[in-house]
Amino acid sequence: MSDTLYGSIEIRGARENNLKNVSLDIPKRAITVFTGVSGSGKSSLVFGTIAAESQRLINETYPAFVQQFMPHYGQPDADSLQNISAAIIVDQQRLGGNSRSTVATVTDAAQMLRVLFSRLGQPHLGSPNLYSYNDPRGMCPECEGIGQVAAMDMDAVVDESKSLNEGALLPKDYAVDTWYWEIYKNSGLFDMDKPIRQYTREERENLFNLDDGRKIKVGKIGLTYEGIVVKLKKGLGSKDPEGLQPHVRVEYDRIFTRKTCPACAGARLNAAALSSRIEGKSIADCSAMQVSDLAPFIRSIEAASVGPMLDALAARLENLITIGLGYLSLDRESSTLSGGESQRVKMVRHLGSSLTDITYVFDEPSVGLHPHDVGRLAGLMQQLRDKGNTVLIVEHKPDMIAIADHVVDMGPFAGSKGGEVVYQGDYAGLLTSGTLTGNHMRKYQPIKETVRKPDGALEIRNAILNNLRDVTVSIPRGVLTAVTGVAGSGKSSLIQGCLPKAYAETVIIDQNLNRGSRRSNTATYTGILDHVRKAFAKANTVEASLFSANSKGACPDCNGLGVIYTDLAHLDPMVTTCETCEGKRFTEEVLAYDLRGKSISDVYEFAVTDACAFFSEPAIAKILKGLEDVGLGYLTLGQPLSTLSGGERQRLKLAAELGKKGNIYVLDEPTTGLHMNDVDTLIGLFDRLVDQGSTVIVIEHNLDVISRADWVIDLGPGAGHDGGAVVFEGVPADLVHAAHSLTGRHLVERGH
Ligand code: ADP
Ligand code: ADP
Ligand code: ZN
Ligand code: ZN
Repeated sequence: MSDTLYGSIEIRGARENNLKNVSLDIPKRAITVFTGVSGSGKSSLVFGTIAAESQRLINETYPAFVQQFMPHYGQPDADSLQNISAAIIVDQQRLGGNSRSTVATVTDAAQMLRVLFSRLGQPHLGSPNLYSYNDPRGMCPECEGIGQVAAMDMDAVVDESKSLNEGALLPKDYAVDTWYWEIYKNSGLFDMDKPIRQYTREERENLFNLDDGRKIKVGKIGLTYEGIVVKLKKGLGSKDPEGLQPHVRVEYDRIFTRKTCPACAGARLNAAALSSRIEGKSIADCSAMQVSDLAPFIRSIEAASVGPMLDALAARLENLITIGLGYLSLDRESSTLSGGESQRVKMVRHLGSSLTDITYVFDEPSVGLHPHDVGRLAGLMQQLRDKGNTVLIVEHKPDMIAIADHVVDMGPFAGSKGGEVVYQGDYAGLLTSGTLTGNHMRKYQPIKETVRKPDGALEIRNAILNNLRDVTVSIPRGVLTAVTGVAGSGKSSLIQGCLPKAYAETVIIDQNLNRGSRRSNTATYTGILDHVRKAFAKANTVEASLFSANSKGACPDCNGLGVIYTDLAHLDPMVTTCETCEGKRFTEEVLAYDLRGKSISDVYEFAVTDACAFFSEPAIAKILKGLEDVGLGYLTLGQPLSTLSGGERQRLKLAAELGKKGNIYVLDEPTTGLHMNDVDTLIGLFDRLVDQGSTVIVIEHNLDVISRADWVIDLGPGAGHDGGAVVFEGVPADLVHAAHSLTGRHLVERGH
């Protein structure tokens, strides 16, 4: 397959990030898998060079007028890039979106289903749009197609024990001395010093519900009076919470709880749309079915007139099933999908496409998939190739690497010790190449025989969240527990949904970081920068604040960022190096101060590993050691958090926990983004946390991690309504004999 029949993408002298003048040819119309330890340069090559060049070329084809509104991709740092075709990146970015975005809309199944109902539904409605909850003619008038309505929590609106002057009105916008508060004050309706509890019935009615259009003067302006309940309902309460900014969303969630719309029972549609049925089912019924049930239902409909349409819809649904997402329903809001699920939903859109000669770029597509489903995913990748496309995959799982027509192994190590191609060629050659990846392909962690003794248990009783079927389970304390099962079996529902409700002290180490402002980077996040500033101040006998990016010592043009962000509506901002300081972040005066020969700007450029060698200050060395221990030695201290992958963010959080004792930690697929070699290190870290007296619970598919756990809880047997039960709990050595467990079967198959 990997001959040059169809030509190759030719890369010469690539130098993005840590790449060391990399030159290579990547065969077209073949599957190329990029491997290598984290930080070796896979993303810099695949996303930073190949995909970036493709995007740039595509953008250049637009008229200059349009181009000025598009993100500018600088030319990737390389001598030459030839033969690059249009690239589509299918990554793990969450789909996000508002509550009108669902699995159905994202996969285009929504439109197909509406057309089908407009042709076959009884009674017949006119056009497909009459079945749409986004169309005023189709939507439920009560909830406007959201399926839920907001109910107000009055305890979050007024504190009845206080007077208006004492701040009885609780929403932020109504605090004492705000404009809204002045309206109530100037209305003359209330005794400002009387606690609300003592109000007469009429006073209460005025404060909450009065809405007669009267004007009240505040300053020089006349404003319309509205009781606070009315005002909140019309204002915040009418908004789609999914579209709110985070701080407004917090306020929304404090005041409103969402409940199912009483008019449509959550179906989002009006009565006419819901009355139209195919074989007894409304379009809302179909959307609420698990996709693995809906597909056979669609196949069972006999209607020659719309045969091709039925086929197309069924095929789209069957692709969702093949990709391991049959447990989802079409009405599932896309904002509730995990990163791995989002990537696979996006994938389905492309599988239906008849485009050829596209370069598809996948970032670890097997994330979230049980080994049982990885084989089917590999099959879909092969289909995409066989349609005449070039498929580039960044992957760590041996089963996915095995399907490669061509392997590019990056290394030998991370950061400045990586950035080279250490092997390229076919899969068989990788196994004998002697590289870290090659060596790991057939080396498995043995199953742990001597497990730790627990010191107590965490109990979850009668859990029924999502698909959980009245699950009662105890999770041993003071040991490492792996929670396993196919995607959709209920792992997250049990461990992220139910456990923290029973044990509030649970620490969830997920992949979300409050990325906060653009000022957040590795150094600020870990708190290392405070200590570094003090060290510089001491060495130069000046004030520590001089070395702060918010101080007068910072470059006035970029305010200490080293780069200038130009915001573009709806698009990623454009980032350029600051010309004033040439990326050095500080004024000449500050840059002149040094600590053992390095300027503050040099420190920002250090990789963690280099910094380890440089700093002997105990407070700094301790934090750096933690970062190295979690395998992040290759990160530079000034690297913005926004450039970190999900797995890197999770490990950054983990590093901050390393010194702590006696906690309950939950991690969801912590091996994401990790090379097999790095997985060994990660298991070592879990052991350390447990040995320090913590309880560690990991949701994992990685068989090495499962083998090294002290206890395994396997959920299943299947996904969605076929899952939700505990099929095995015990030590890993016994899982091998649990014939009914898919996880157990895979442990056996790989020949532990
Ligand atoms: P991989 O994909 O193999 O994990 P990457 O290509 O992400 O590796 O990273 C290679 C090196 O480049 C690492 O040292 C990483 O810290 C650095 N790097 C990656 N992205 C950036 C960035 N946006 N700014 C600075 N350094 C980066
Ligand atoms: P796992 O973690 O094993 O992949 P989940 O706990 O995420 O499984 O999902 C179990 C079941 O619950 C699936 O059928 C899934 O579709 C459903 N589910 C999970 N989260 C939600 C949600 N936010 N809304 C509706 N259904 C959900
Ligand atoms: Zn409704
Ligand atoms: Zn500057």
